[in-house]
Amino acid sequence: MTPAAGPPAAWTLRGVGIAGRDGGWDVVVADDGTIAEIRPAGTADGGVLLPGLVDLHTHLREPGGEEAETLESGGRAAAAGGFTDVFAMANTSPVTDTPERVRALRQLAAGVRVRVHPVGAATVGLAGKEAVDVAALAAEGVTLFSDDGRCVDDAGLVLELLTAMARQGTAFAQHAQSASIVRDGVVNAPVAAGLGVPGWPAAGEEAVIGRDLALAAATGGRLHICHVSTAGAVALVRSAKRDGLPVTAEVTPHHLLLTDETAARRGPALKVNPPLRSAEDVTAVRAALRDGTIDLVATDHAPHPARTKTCSWQAAAFGLTSLETALPVVAEVFADPASGAVDWAAVARVMSVRPAAIGGIPGLAGRPVTAGGPATFCLVRAERWQAGPDGWQSRSANSPFTGREFAHRVVLTALDGRITHGDRPAG
Ligand SMILES: [Zn+2]
Repeated sequence: MTPAAGPPAAWTLRGVGIAGRDGGWDVVVADDGTIAEIRPAGTADGGVLLPGLVDLHTHLREPGGEEAETLESGGRAAAAGGFTDVFAMANTSPVTDTPERVRALRQLAAGVRVRVHPVGAATVGLAGKEAVDVAALAAEGVTLFSDDGRCVDDAGLVLELLTAMARQGTAFAQHAQSASIVRDGVVNAPVAAGLGVPGWPAAGEEAVIGRDLALAAATGGRLHICHVSTAGAVALVRSAKRDGLPVTAEVTPHHLLLTDETAARRGPALKVNPPLRSAEDVTAVRAALRDGTIDLVATDHAPHPARTKTCSWQAAAFGLTSLETALPVVAEVFADPASGAVDWAAVARVMSVRPAAIGGIPGLAGRPVTAGGPATFCLVRAERWQAGPDGWQSRSANSPFTGREFAHRVVLTALDGRITHGDRPAG
């Protein structure tokens, strides 16, 4: 009996590790975009393969914000960061709040280097007054709803949205920011007085999370908390999960690494929403990511033109670019402090497996790198490099990590066998 011949090999990665597996491997990619074969190799010094990264929270700006980013440039930035799938937030112009606009966005995104999954707005025009037609958008394939950039502040509206989520099996992602508490706050409250600007207190985030957890409990609707940034928010999510509530949470790379003191020192270039928090908060979100209280890392990639970040604290735009440096940041969080060895299975969990599951695309992404599966992965090497001086794939440069050195770098990304970043291996 001869085994059926598979499609011919298109290219082969030699001597690589695979997240979650011991040993070194040659990974043979077939020309139909699947992994034809994984065979033992003597070494694993070619880097480590992770399933393609999935970003549940990206601002790609197009349509309407092309000065800052386009689907094409954002797609290149994502691929350079190891991402194969990104969820595009709805706060574009026009807002993604109808099935027609979802279809239009998908059409615009055809041919870019990542799969773009449209997030549906939660309220019409992001106005916070009237829920979108959740059923119609879900029928169009939308799995995640969010007004991100803005909080859905009205409790009755959140109740209505979560009821609709329960009915459709979709999730509501809340940008937790109480308008009446935060007002015009721009930096973490403890450093605000020293800078002479209004503060953005932890309670502004925690009050909304506490309320929405009660509404998730009342409705059974899935609630996802965007960019958790405080120790108090972590405690709320931890307790809700213990109670079995349908809640998930994300943290951004910048909230894992940077503090309000750094923001105070470096100025409005680091203005972001929610703001960079205290060292204690950073310790809390790191611990929560490691123990699974926080499910995943999402970039909140928020490109802005330079002129909107080089002005006063109050005039500056909120937001940081993040797609191209997320992986090395997360690798630092999961590195053993003594040996430097990275827990790659944990990195794959928080950057691919969990976001794919929560985003409702587990058949497409977040799958282990296995023979017969899609060649959808990224290759990471231990390599010292400095972020920024060679420029960015993103159309914007408002990264908080310009000039910083990292210990790991994404050297190749593939989506269904198509190389979307890096050089095609010889042979
Ligand atoms: Zn947000």
